[in-house]
Amino acid sequence: MFNSFNALADRQLEGAVLSRDDAFAILESSDDQLMDLVAAAARLRRAHFGNAVKVNYLVNLKSGLCPEDCTYCSQRLGSAAQILKYTWLKPEEALAQAGSGIAAGASRVCLVASGKGPTDRDVDRVAAMVEGLKEDHPGVEVCACLGILKEGQAEKLKACGADAYNHNLNTSEAMYKDICTTHDFADRIRTVEHAKSAGLSPCSGLIVGMGEGNGDLVDAVFALRDLDSDSIPVNFLMPFDGTPLEGTWLLTPAHCIRILALVRFACPSTELRMAGGREMHLRTLQPLALHIANSLFLGDYLTSEGQPGQADLDMIADSGFTVLGQNPSPEASSSLPPSPARTSLHDGAASPGAPATLGALPAIRRRGAGTAVAPNA
Ligand code: SF4
Repeated sequence: MFNSFNALADRQLEGAVLSRDDAFAILESSDDQLMDLVAAAARLRRAHFGNAVKVNYLVNLKSGLCPEDCTYCSQRLGSAAQILKYTWLKPEEALAQAGSGIAAGASRVCLVASGKGPTDRDVDRVAAMVEGLKEDHPGVEVCACLGILKEGQAEKLKACGADAYNHNLNTSEAMYKDICTTHDFADRIRTVEHAKSAGLSPCSGLIVGMGEGNGDLVDAVFALRDLDSDSIPVNFLMPFDGTPLEGTWLLTPAHCIRILALVRFACPSTELRMAGGREMHLRTLQPLALHIANSLFLGDYLTSEGQPGQADLDMIADSGFTVLGQNPSPEASSSLPPSPARTSLHDGAASPGAPATLGALPAIRRRGAGTAVAPNA
């Protein structure tokens, strides 16, 4: 065991492999130790990523109507959540949505579609979107997230220029049967391996707050380490009304920080993204989490609204970080007040950037992809 989180950071910087005992010590640490934990994890974050924050932007290409039964998902079979439901976006709409995120600073666009997995025709459709995006924005990474892949599909995505493929492990193998009965943990591992072997950068992460124990968390994080995922999004359960996990509020902001720190200590050089649900679960600790995570989604999520995109960018600047790929602007300083243009963009409840209430139920997305309302970017 280690004497302090700082000593553990020293060990990890020298290339040590995090043990299960170390992992439990992180998760079981007290609130009094929280700032020491953040400071130590921040050393790993800065050693590998400096003060850059990678900004990612989600485009939900196809929403709802899924035949799978993942308990955490508002798009699942039988979900009564009042989410937007639509079939495939037209390519020009997908490109326009992605363009909004890119204009706001995103260096990766994540093209997501609900469903167990794509047909070959679906893959062709997404491949054309990837090609269009690459033509318009050659420096931007494109990640596809289309579910379980069949033979040849990852290869086709790679050939059209996709950079990465996302497929989350979500939780431990032991707990998987409790969150989904229509596919299993092994299916998920196989798809990540398939994407990796086709040359796509594997992106795979977690959903926490579903009732898992610390042992499940450690198992899941170590499975991601074994998988050698290049990026790990950590989602915090958004318990949509109308889903089996409705009313499930099991996380505290401090525990969310411990979970992020566990991932950082286990996988020091891996992109760690604070993903869906960060607003309602990390709440006022979001800026602190940036000292551990080096990546986030800007603006809205697949079926729910995040905080205004400009608030994400302000949080990054105010905390002394810079958006990856962009030079810090003269406004990127906590000593400057927000410009009128920034504040007016998000004034008023009907504006695209109207703030989601922190700590409240998920606000169903009513803007961006699949609507006639401007996206939150
Ligand atoms: S997580 Fe994906 S596969 Fe599962 S219900 Fe939601 S959209 Fe369907």
